[in-house]
Amino acid sequence: MSTDNGFKTIIEPFKIKTVEPIQISTRKQREEWLKKARFNPFQLSSDQVIIDLLTDSGTSAMSAKQWSGISDGDEAYAGSRSWKRMESVIRDLTGFEHILPTHQGRAAERILYGTIGGAGKVFLSNTHFDTTRANIEYSGATAIDIPIEEALIPDRIHPFKGNLDTKKLVEQIGNQGAGSIGAVILTVTNNSGGGQPVSMQNARDVSRICREHGILFILDACRVAENSWFIRHREEGYSEKSYRDVAREMFSLADGAIMSAKKDALVNMGGFLALQDEDLAASCNNLLIITEGFTTYGGLSGRDMEAIATGLEEVFDPDYLKYRIRSTEYLGNKLIDMGVPVIQPIGGHAVYVDAKELYSHIPVEQFPGQALVCDLYTIGGVRAVEIGSVMFGKKDDDGNLIPAAMELVRLAIPRRVYTQSHIEYVVEVFEKVLAHKKHSTGYKIVKEPPFLRHFTAHFEPVSGG
Ligand SMILES: *Cc1c(COP(=O)(O)O)cnc(C)c1O
Repeated sequence: MSTDNGFKTIIEPFKIKTVEPIQISTRKQREEWLKKARFNPFQLSSDQVIIDLLTDSGTSAMSAKQWSGISDGDEAYAGSRSWKRMESVIRDLTGFEHILPTHQGRAAERILYGTIGGAGKVFLSNTHFDTTRANIEYSGATAIDIPIEEALIPDRIHPFKGNLDTKKLVEQIGNQGAGSIGAVILTVTNNSGGGQPVSMQNARDVSRICREHGILFILDACRVAENSWFIRHREEGYSEKSYRDVAREMFSLADGAIMSAKKDALVNMGGFLALQDEDLAASCNNLLIITEGFTTYGGLSGRDMEAIATGLEEVFDPDYLKYRIRSTEYLGNKLIDMGVPVIQPIGGHAVYVDAKELYSHIPVEQFPGQALVCDLYTIGGVRAVEIGSVMFGKKDDDGNLIPAAMELVRLAIPRRVYTQSHIEYVVEVFEKVLAHKKHSTGYKIVKEPPFLRHFTAHFEPVSGG
């Protein structure tokens, strides 16, 4: 168990063994690079970035034990020892019988939602992550978000702001008919909703409602270990349970799970789909073999599977989880003290800045989140991501923007990568952002693809703003 020795400073519970240099750039260089990237930081090359908070996905630093597992990986096509180990670690954690390895989370989503989705089907979630929504919509089905009301009020404190609104769930089931609901998906923690946790009670309620109506209940478990930390520290009855047991209890309430191993499995690539139902697993296995690979590797190398198995064990270490959650909170609290509006309470893997509030002089149609992302980059070389109307905005029949519920900028913290001084630097960049704020202008989209436009869209500053 965790060693609480009475010190205020929470040190990184690891030593640095290998280092990767950061290229320091000037503001002038960054202005040119951003222009060439069409004001879309996804189009920058990573050596143009000083502190990369674009995502916590696949950006973890692996442990010495994971790296030694990389050498030990068994690359057999069928029945690899590394697969056996990954399968048994996941089966043990989730309790599900059928484990399908995939090259990342969205491959598991494509396989599952491609199988159970299609025209006329409706999916309900606390909040569908962007790839989840895209895979559901691509199948022809509809994705509806039903978070609790508090989730949409950035400064409203709620211990489990990631919860799904069970009253709306029952209403939706009544309106749509249980038969047309493909699945209810609980995203833990709720990534697009601010990295906010979901309570065990909420999962229990969702589980009960789904079982009453014969609806499939899927856990999007990318950050299930981080979610367990919040349950243990905020929900009654869990303070004596291990983080792993909390996670196991949550899995036991669902019929299956999808996980991107690039998050809480502490690896750079990988994912899986875990299912209890044999027939559904058989259909998914067919698609897996056609599109990912044979059932004992999916889209993964043996070495990846070895590292995933180890990562899924390491992530539940109490000292790691304490450092992880408290260091994210450290950045959040510093920003709050400076007067930067952020989603509260601070979530697990990221700090979400309310760009609509911070850049209230920029109209939503001119994407205040994109403006903040561009400023963070030019001012300090910090790369963040807009989670607002660029990512989730829709268009009405006349082509006018239907804005997203919130205009957020996410500062995602890679796992075990940055130290406290890197975070202090980010805080200083925000000081300059605040000072420069009134000069910043909005953006317009000049080119975009039909799906997931935030990755490749081209922007231009709105002149005279
Ligand atoms: C990252 C993520 C996914 C997709 O996983 P990839 O490995 O990026 O394909 C799905 N759901 C949530 C909640 C995620 O955070």
